[in-house]
Amino acid sequence: MLLEICKGCFAIICNIISWFHKGSSDPTEEKGVKIMEIRPGSIAFDIDGVVTDTMGSFIKVAREQFGIDEMRKEDITSYWIEECLPLPEEIIQEIISRILNDPWGTGLTFIPGARDLLIRLGEVSRLTFVTARPFKEPIEEWLVQGLGNSDIEVIATGAHDAKGQVLLELRRDYFVEDHLETCRELYEQGIKAMVFDQPWNRNGKAPFRRVRNWQEIAKVLSI
Ligand SMILES: [Mg+2]
Repeated sequence: MLLEICKGCFAIICNIISWFHKGSSDPTEEKGVKIMEIRPGSIAFDIDGVVTDTMGSFIKVAREQFGIDEMRKEDITSYWIEECLPLPEEIIQEIISRILNDPWGTGLTFIPGARDLLIRLGEVSRLTFVTARPFKEPIEEWLVQGLGNSDIEVIATGAHDAKGQVLLELRRDYFVEDHLETCRELYEQGIKAMVFDQPWNRNGKAPFRRVRNWQEIAKVLSI
């Protein structure tokens, strides 16, 4: 008798839970279970391809300064540009060098939604960016100007595989990144990487959350 009552109660509870879970589109939930609400102080960001439309700059510079005008962002299906575009290596390197050294002259822009959310986030917590760029000064100054916030932290590791150690030392548990291989490495080090959806990271399944835009990032932040 007692067992039957318990079974009945269990079924009612299950029904109530499943009713609440129907139709939930909250990206912090999976199958109705809250899985993420990220504190502002526990997240950090990659820059190129996440905060800035660096590939857009690449295409713009290629067109305006090198006369290469048949490239589209969707053509860039590999993180390594030379693997997917038939461009001479020296031209690729020259364009990248210009982008690294002169974000203003190469027309770098924020990815839609990034600037607004980073300004809001910067009001409640210090912003931290970890990039594999070999030096940080131009992009740091560009971010300070663009965000109107001089109290930001930019760390240039010079290598993708150095990001994990930096994030562990900074105690940043979450990281938004567009390089799939780096996401995998961070995940193995216990950092909850989120892959920022781009044409060059859509191959292969990944065990971490994919965010398609900054609106989705906003939804998992507790601000
Ligand atoms: Mg990147």
